[in-house]
Amino acid sequence: MAPGIDGLPAAEREVEVSGPVARFLTSLSPRILVRLRLGLFAFEWLPFPWRFSRLDPVAREDFLHRLERSRFRLHHELLLMAKILSTLGYAVTPRVRERIGFETSCALADGSLPEPAGDLGETEPRGEGEECDVVIVGSGAGGAVAAAMLAEAGLDVIVLEAGGSFNRDNYPQDPLEAIATLYRDGGLTIAEGQPAIPVPVARALGGTTVINSGTCFRAPEPVLEEWRRDFGMEWSGDLEADFAEAEDFLRVQPVDPERMGRNGQLAMEGAAAIGASGGPISRNAGDCVQCSSCPFGCEIDAKRGMHVSYLPRAVAAGARIRTGVEVDQVLTEAGRTVGVHACRLLPAYRAKSDNQGARRDYTVRARVATIVAGGALGTPELLLRSGLGGKQVGRNFHIHPACWVGARYEEDVRGWDGVMQSYYVDQWEARGVLLEATFTPLAFGGAWLLGAGREHQESMLRFGRMGSIGVHLHDRSAGRVGLGAEGSIHARYSLTRDDADRIAYGIARAAEIHFAAGAVEVYPNIARVPRLRPGQLGDFEATRFARSELRLEAFHPMGTARVAADPTAGVCAPDGSVNGTAGLYVADASLFPTSVGVNPMMTVIAFAKQVARSVAAAAA
Ligand SMILES: Cc1cc2nc3c(=O)[nH]c(=O)nc-3n(C[C@H](O)[C@H](O)[C@H](O)COP(=O)(O)OP(=O)(O)OC[C@H]3O[C@@H](n4cnc5c(N)ncnc54)[C@H](O)[C@@H]3O)c2cc1C
Ligand code: SF4
Repeated sequence: MAPGIDGLPAAEREVEVSGPVARFLTSLSPRILVRLRLGLFAFEWLPFPWRFSRLDPVAREDFLHRLERSRFRLHHELLLMAKILSTLGYAVTPRVRERIGFETSCALADGSLPEPAGDLGETEPRGEGEECDVVIVGSGAGGAVAAAMLAEAGLDVIVLEAGGSFNRDNYPQDPLEAIATLYRDGGLTIAEGQPAIPVPVARALGGTTVINSGTCFRAPEPVLEEWRRDFGMEWSGDLEADFAEAEDFLRVQPVDPERMGRNGQLAMEGAAAIGASGGPISRNAGDCVQCSSCPFGCEIDAKRGMHVSYLPRAVAAGARIRTGVEVDQVLTEAGRTVGVHACRLLPAYRAKSDNQGARRDYTVRARVATIVAGGALGTPELLLRSGLGGKQVGRNFHIHPACWVGARYEEDVRGWDGVMQSYYVDQWEARGVLLEATFTPLAFGGAWLLGAGREHQESMLRFGRMGSIGVHLHDRSAGRVGLGAEGSIHARYSLTRDDADRIAYGIARAAEIHFAAGAVEVYPNIARVPRLRPGQLGDFEATRFARSELRLEAFHPMGTARVAADPTAGVCAPDGSVNGTAGLYVADASLFPTSVGVNPMMTVIAFAKQVARSVAAAAA
């Protein structure tokens, strides 16, 4: 995949790639491994009667080139898998980073270190179980906030988190180890469909807020109004105080245009040149500058993820946190929840999530309520395993499909010298398109660069002159999260024709901004159109693309246990309680009745506060 050109080392011959990737793969669950093996087997034999690994370099190049230009969905999926795996291993090697000039270091604008977060107490579970008033499954944006609110209301709270506890003192330094440790399925969770879309989520204390970009948007007013009008959420028009409190506590502030980095500035300049509305993104990272490494955990914890904000606050109010505890069943008696059964993962095996031999039973009995906050993948997984919540569990799966639109500039951009998500453009919000200048580290973003083989390496060499804008779609398409035969989740999601057209429209708008900012070519990430040059946008917009031609990712799963006024249309009542089971609540992104249209963390936080109030009121 990487033959080595112009100072970039050849994979395997000059830098080891397969060894580290193989070690990374051993940390994945057997379920994901089986799928990857099948995929790699297909990739290897696709040039039948020859095998990819035995082709000479010229034939390999030719084969990769044909896959890149193919119209078949399977070819793109296999090529993307091969690019993701090989780039993960290749792009993190010091020689590659040095050649590209890619170096990062987190810092605050004044050079100081943020003050240490509060204590999390003893997080190691002991014995066979515990008792409390409220048990919360999951410690992300929803679970952490609910825990703080309920503990502060005087309830005895336990938070159970499947992942481990990390902060600036112990984030894994090796990028592959960080991905294996901090993400569910090593970040390789895929929603299958037209096209297949990677949907990474975290698995760590603090949930996905540990590795997210820190972007803070309030839910748009029209969306909140729709939720109030059509889904019975009377309180959704009344979130001003909750948003304000969270913004204050998380120290949310807009990125300083002077310091956002060239990638954001180019988007800002391009948007201004065509008169598109937008602004610097508000983030929960104070005045951090540099380094675009958020997906590996913020080296200095400038970003106020839940593990350094609401969780210490919950503990200060008396909550107990237990990590390495994966809940597999909500326990009920006579139609009422009484707690949860879990598997406690022994510390030495935490990176190997499915090592059955390393597990012990663990039960938490809850006197008042059980709150499920495992995120929009983990929550339906648990409800389905427990047979609770009814037929709508897992349906209404929205993800904000996103497309990475890169562009080559004649000037140095060095997008890694800047904030990862820095400038938004909301000019086309009415069409469901939100653009965000987003620069992804090479290990993640590298797989989306143009080409394969030599051409991909040429793209890597240009990485320092690359700008990028993420196109996010306020999706109407809806997928479904179900359970696979082996009991773990099986996510399906296909774009509607209309949503595919709106993504293509968003790609064109991102290209327009890039060109207005001076880009010499744009990479729309569509199989048939490897690159666009100035003047080609008209033809691009006149073309209708097949859904499978789009190369997408998604970072915002939501809606899989949605609130609805009519119990047959949803899983939860407007107070977050699960239909049909007394004392059981959901408090995470699963609750959203529809796609929210902006980065969801702040809306999850506001929802969790509302649900916590319902639980506290029920307990009183
Ligand atoms: C790379 C990336 C960047 C993002 N950037 C942004 C951003 O900048 N701004 C923004 O608003 N949003 C962003 N998001 C999305 C945002 O972080 C999530 O929407 C938000 O964290 C969701 O909160 P949650 O509580 O629903 O779930 P999560 O935060 O995902 O937390 C769920 C937790 O529950 C745990 N869990 C699940 N099942 C179980 C179980 N059975 N037992 C025990 N524990 C369990 C999981 O391990 C996880 O830690 C990003 C997401 C990604 C992937
Ligand atoms: S860019 Fe992200 S990782 Fe870097 S200092 Fe800021 S919040 Fe931390």
